[in-house]
Amino acid sequence: MADYIFEPPDVPGIPVKGESALYPVGRIFCVGRNYAAHAAEMGVEVDREAPFYFTKSPSAFLFSGGTLPYPPGTENFHHEMELALAIGAPAFRVTPDEAAGAIYAYGCALDMTRRDLQLKARERQRPWDLGKDVEGSAVFAALTKAGEIPALGPQRIHLEVNGEVKQDATLDQLIHSVPEIVADLSKFYHLRPGDLIMTGTPAGVGPVVAGDRITGGIDGLADIALSIGEPE
Ligand code: MN
Repeated sequence: MADYIFEPPDVPGIPVKGESALYPVGRIFCVGRNYAAHAAEMGVEVDREAPFYFTKSPSAFLFSGGTLPYPPGTENFHHEMELALAIGAPAFRVTPDEAAGAIYAYGCALDMTRRDLQLKARERQRPWDLGKDVEGSAVFAALTKAGEIPALGPQRIHLEVNGEVKQDATLDQLIHSVPEIVADLSKFYHLRPGDLIMTGTPAGVGPVVAGDRITGGIDGLADIALSIGEPE
């Protein structure tokens, strides 16, 4: 064990259904604009040629069920409900067919977003980090191993704020499929166990405020929840 100047932060872990050990959180990749109706509500076209990505720091991880204080620097903090996948084997320059073998598990995730800062950055052609890499904004529910769910497609993906349905779609509306995303991302990164990918949000994103309770689900996967607390 190396001797550190200070105690390094713990590696966060996500519970996996049927396993006692946790899935350790490595990198967090996110796909932008992967449902046509969401791209439309954001006033942009979908690029059907290839997905595009942004990242969240692993330190932005928060496990489902927790409370996130309303973050600093925003007046328009948005929910985005997403299907996430967890990589379980190395994948570099893989085909979509090969990509399936690298997927260990799936889970519900929230890509919480400072929308005002993201849009300002988009306008000015600046990076999205302030809008997207928000502390506590990478929320994950417990994972379900890929072999334990039926083929992706008809499953409903939904999100409610205080019980009112805000996002409601099916996974067959994904423009870039899960194997296509993994194959494409593997052109740029040596994907490895611990890497998580959020696959994009359906239409219906919107603001939350302190006191709100977000719930969401995808058929066959563990539900997700997040409470928004008072700002610090
Ligand atoms: Mn998103």
